[in-house]
Amino acid sequence: MERSDKKMKPHDIVVVGAGVFGAWTAHFLRQSGASVILLDAYGPANSRASSGGETRVIRMGYGPDELYTRWAVRSLPLWREFAARMGREIFQQTGVLWLSNDADSYLRNLCSVLAQAGVEREELNGDEIARRWPQLSFHDVTWGVLEPSSGLLLARAAVQSLVRELVENGVAYAPVAAEIPRGEGRLAEIQTSTGESISAGTFVFCCGPWLPKMFPGLLRDRIFPTRQEVFFLGTPAGRADFRPPKMPVWLHRTHPDLPYALPDIEGRGFKIAFDRHGETFDPDTGMRVVGEPSLARLRAYLRQHIPALENAPVIETRVCQYENTWNGDFLIDRHPDFENVWIAGGGSGHGFKHGPALGEYLSARILQGAPAEARFSLSAKQTSQKRSVY
Ligand SMILES: Cc1cc2nc3c(=O)[nH]c(=O)nc-3n(C[C@H](O)[C@H](O)[C@H](O)COP(=O)(O)OP(=O)(O)OC[C@H]3O[C@@H](n4cnc5c(N)ncnc54)[C@H](O)[C@@H]3O)c2cc1C
Repeated sequence: MERSDKKMKPHDIVVVGAGVFGAWTAHFLRQSGASVILLDAYGPANSRASSGGETRVIRMGYGPDELYTRWAVRSLPLWREFAARMGREIFQQTGVLWLSNDADSYLRNLCSVLAQAGVEREELNGDEIARRWPQLSFHDVTWGVLEPSSGLLLARAAVQSLVRELVENGVAYAPVAAEIPRGEGRLAEIQTSTGESISAGTFVFCCGPWLPKMFPGLLRDRIFPTRQEVFFLGTPAGRADFRPPKMPVWLHRTHPDLPYALPDIEGRGFKIAFDRHGETFDPDTGMRVVGEPSLARLRAYLRQHIPALENAPVIETRVCQYENTWNGDFLIDRHPDFENVWIAGGGSGHGFKHGPALGEYLSARILQGAPAEARFSLSAKQTSQKRSVY
């Protein structure tokens, strides 16, 4: 592209990417007094972004993993405060139900981590689960844990409202694509798709599944975007048993495809998906249409576990992508070639809920030199996939 030599007003910090990670990072940077400009190529929580779509689960349990439980526990009140400021039910306390069996050490560990963290939980046996949720049929489930204070977040609404609030609080927002930064040492400015350059003291790249395109040499083998399909089913007319309070969010751990479901919210339908990683996916060019084999797999699952929805119409589908690191740990670190460039991503299918904690952590790393969590470092990221964070 021809350069026009147009220069935007300099800022302390440029944040590239207005998904949940970029928006919350901009929020905390601004709260600390920095002047911030936020850029997005396609718009906040757009339909290609990982933060797009209707809803995301917010749960406190992460099996034995104390770090993500701590971050979820930190994030929930920040989401609640934000929802109260917006006057909108961005967080909905539907409860989150883990469905498993007695042999599941993940769930046993989850219970002790939640107990240590002071998170309320209810343990239920298979009979109690069958009695409380007769619309579900899980013969393989002998044990469950309910997190009554957890629930779901209205994803797109949350990110778009947050960006509106940022702009009201003095953050500049520009609907442009940042070009790949070149050079090394100290980055002075970045170029945009509109031919402008933006200079700043610090640059933060929160480009989700686009990070491997932004930094191919560094991240092509460290972030793996995968295709993930989501179905919204029409529930029977006039029946409340697939909506809150009769239906919580649930996760079916004993099934190899790791199904999970969210209740019908705002009349969009009962949401169901499989957490197992799909094929490699390109966030710019990937077609977002689900195929017949996926529908057949879903029908087979419904027949067995949610008979009332076996023949339910599919009223909406979505194809999104996870941006997986090798094991599911986030990547939050400085770029090794630039002293003033930061990268935050690798949400790995579980990042949305942690937006507030991530923004707070990264802002403190950048502005106050707060200590680093080793698991988020670039050096901890391996190049072959072995998922261990669920
Ligand atoms: C189907 C599905 C279900 C999920 N379920 C859950 C769940 O239940 N709970 C949970 O906690 N998490 C869940 N996740 C994960 C969570 O949604 C992601 O981890 C999170 O949204 C990642 O946010 P992000 O800001 O890193 O990326 P994104 O939301 O993708 O944001 C990146 C942004 O960067 C912009 N961008 C990219 N390149 C450029 C550029 N060069 N210039 C300018 N802008 C650029 C893009 O347009 C985009 O808006 C799920 C994800 C999917 C796909």
